[in-house]
Amino acid sequence: MYKPTIGLEIHLQLMTESKIFCSCSTEFAAKPNTHICPVCIGLPGALPVLNEKVIEYGVMLGIALNCTINEVSSFYRKNYFYPDLPKGYQITQYAIPLAKDGFLEIVTENQRKMIRIEKAHIEEDSGKSIHTGDITESEYSFIDFNRSGVPLMEIVTYPDIESPDEAYEFLNLLRSIARYLGVSTGDMEKGALRCDVNISVSKDEVMGTKVEIKNLNSFRSVKRALEYEIKRQTKLIEEGRTVVKETRHFDEKDGTTKAMRTKEELNDYRYFPEPDLPPLIISGDFIEEIGQRIPELPNQKMRRFIEDYSLSIDYARSIAYVPSFSKYFESIIAFTGKPREVANFIMVNISNYLNETGKDIEEVPFGKEEFKELLDLIDSKIISLNIAKNVLDDSIRSGKSPSEIVREKGLSQVTDEDTLRSMIVEVLKENEMQVRQYLAGKTKVIGFLVGAVMKKSGGKANPDLVNKILLKELETLRQ
Ligand SMILES: [Zn+2]
Repeated sequence: MYKPTIGLEIHLQLMTESKIFCSCSTEFAAKPNTHICPVCIGLPGALPVLNEKVIEYGVMLGIALNCTINEVSSFYRKNYFYPDLPKGYQITQYAIPLAKDGFLEIVTENQRKMIRIEKAHIEEDSGKSIHTGDITESEYSFIDFNRSGVPLMEIVTYPDIESPDEAYEFLNLLRSIARYLGVSTGDMEKGALRCDVNISVSKDEVMGTKVEIKNLNSFRSVKRALEYEIKRQTKLIEEGRTVVKETRHFDEKDGTTKAMRTKEELNDYRYFPEPDLPPLIISGDFIEEIGQRIPELPNQKMRRFIEDYSLSIDYARSIAYVPSFSKYFESIIAFTGKPREVANFIMVNISNYLNETGKDIEEVPFGKEEFKELLDLIDSKIISLNIAKNVLDDSIRSGKSPSEIVREKGLSQVTDEDTLRSMIVEVLKENEMQVRQYLAGKTKVIGFLVGAVMKKSGGKANPDLVNKILLKELETLRQ
């Protein structure tokens, strides 16, 4: 077996209202080149002024990633030529990043694993090139400088990731943390989170040749590109060929990676300290104050849901990672208790409803009062859990209360013993073979018979009572 070694380099746009070094708006998808000024289009003589909010967000994210925050860090110029980089250099951090030496603990397939973070630094985004037609043979390129100077946090992991699933989960958790902190939307589709991956495979302790993959537009693309690349590199090695150290481009259409014709590899960025910005000095008090503002994070929430409420990992993660979901979930269980039942209703019925309608969970017309009513109906054995699911589906769509629906549709459980007994007698007559089998010692068929009674009652029979009466009736047949 070849073991993959994977490292991630993530760029996260910070959602400040204005850019990192000027007061232009960071609004996404605005008309091209409407949020620009001499600073962010790099006119000579324009001077950068650091946006304090960027530091606040950066420190917050750094702390959430368990990093050490450097009280003194500095800015550098990274020099390279590209049309969407108006100054001819990017202001970034180099020798001393804002945050370093962190980690995130991820959970995949019941296994906990620590992924170390080498550093997290702040920098400015470039403008955006828009090419007509195919990227390889486009006729015209346009440049939109609205993105130029939007603040970014670059997060670099150590190559601790060993599978596409782990890479996926790391990104999933990171994005969720950014959302809880309110520092980034993490929307990969909108470019608010971008990810490059490094991957090599090897059979022994000797590291394989590292390949970088770019153009990954979704978490799914990251996973697919890694899966493809593991196969490609393994095959090359097995055939006695060599893996070339290069940058490859992921092709969304056919799920493959292709070598990029790029000169970037040879770049010497000639980093030097940014003369227009003083060193960045952050007080310990500021760091501490920000640390206290960090809410319970999704991985902590997930663990709590598993430990305190016995939710499955999947349900705990799905609810905990989406701030609006966990807010909804927690407000309901604070009022009703029953976390397992509520989680189940949310993950199945409510999720279906959201998929169907395209609504957000905040808009779901089934709140804590309605949940309480539904759970009470189950508790008092008026309806079964199965019927309750239908009642919820109906209530959410019709706006009627659960009790109203139960009343109108006559869904109350049949608990009258005589009614149940006559149903059971009928079922026993209709299923003579199973009755004989039962009497001959094959007691497992009881499940089949209970099912038949439930079916006859339209799901409304009380299953406990059915069981009890059914056993009694079967015993009378024995004599
Ligand atoms: Zn500007």
